Amino acid sequence: MSLGLKAIQTIRDFDIAGKTVFLRLDLNVPMENGKISDETRITASLPTIQYCIEKGAKIIIASHFGRPKSADDKEYSLEPVGHRLSEILNAEVILIDEPDSDATKALLHTLRKNQILLLENLRFHPGETKNSPEFANALATNIDFYINDAFGASHRAHASIHALPEIMPKNSGIGFLIEKEVQMLDSLMHNPKRPYLAVMGGAKVSDKIDVIEKLLDVVDGFVIGGAMAYTFLKAKGHDVGKSLVETDKVRYAKEMIERIEVRGKTLLLPVDHVVTQNIADTAGAKTTAGVSIEDGWMGVDIGPTTIRHYAAALKEAGTIFWNGPMGVFETPAFAKGTFGVAQAIAESQAIKIVGGGDSASAAQASGFADKMTHISTGGGASLEYLQGDRLPGLEILRDKRRLNNQA
Ligand code: AMP
Repeated sequence: MSLGLKAIQTIRDFDIAGKTVFLRLDLNVPMENGKISDETRITASLPTIQYCIEKGAKIIIASHFGRPKSADDKEYSLEPVGHRLSEILNAEVILIDEPDSDATKALLHTLRKNQILLLENLRFHPGETKNSPEFANALATNIDFYINDAFGASHRAHASIHALPEIMPKNSGIGFLIEKEVQMLDSLMHNPKRPYLAVMGGAKVSDKIDVIEKLLDVVDGFVIGGAMAYTFLKAKGHDVGKSLVETDKVRYAKEMIERIEVRGKTLLLPVDHVVTQNIADTAGAKTTAGVSIEDGWMGVDIGPTTIRHYAAALKEAGTIFWNGPMGVFETPAFAKGTFGVAQAIAESQAIKIVGGGDSASAAQASGFADKMTHISTGGGASLEYLQGDRLPGLEILRDKRRLNNQA
């Protein structure tokens, strides 16, 4: 059972006026040709930053960015993110390299209202991913409060997520984004409005097995698309041509189908497909007449009848959790299924929550992102949370004594 936000302090619990707040954010935004291609994570971080500004705190923002091999990997500098932040906040964002240097101390001492410090990519320091106490000590040097608002990184025990708040438990808490993410994901686990449908897609069953297992207890049905569907269809004995199938998961899929049926839950699988002989060949793609796929062809999207079936089911839902695209949506010719399902979800009256990662990009690309109740900023983190795993970044913030008193 998830503990949610029990015994975790939030930024509202602290008197941060005039104090230095270390804001651990997830500003790991996608880049294309040196430009930020999706600002969702920046936008999602703004309420906490703005709250700190309004309260008159001195702010040090910190984030990881990509996977640099060393501090010389300047491609992974947070500079473009700092630039964008300064435009949005109408503030001067000063990039600093060392959290514990005298220069940083001096900057903090004279920091003006419209100035914010941005620490360079945390992963330029090898201690970050090693959860090093030394690096955490360096991060703690000049700060009064630690706020974690990096939901997308909270499933990792890294120094800025775990070792740092461990040093200063009384003055550590969460920001508004994590609060919202946890409340939204908790609403899926406890008393969801029914019927509750989980729309699962994407490339691999193996990535999603744990969450499917967990969801089996709470959902009323699964709507399956993407390459994942072919492993299930194969398990039901259908011909799937050369579609992507995880051969070693076919048995598992078969068992899962039985368990879903025994419990009287719904399982919707594609009844037709968009197929091609080669994933790069969009001109030669066609729609199948039924569920079978001929030899030499592969399924790359759900077909029009399937879209209609799925849309009809989603219209009746009370709660929808969507994780994973219905096809190779990055190729416009194979995106109709994903966008059609996104539209059906958007138009339903349900509480609709989108898992992060590819599903978030698909929701954005479909043009229906603003119709969703919540789009998680954390792909891995949201799935781990839903499957009942304790996120290191949240657990370290839980006051064990208060938890026992509340129990
Ligand atoms: P995931 O990260 O597991 O959510 O998978 C997302 C990826 O699955 C996307 O890049 C899609 O292009 C891919 N995908 C979805 N459907 C298919 C399919 N039928 N065949 C191959 N790849 C697919």
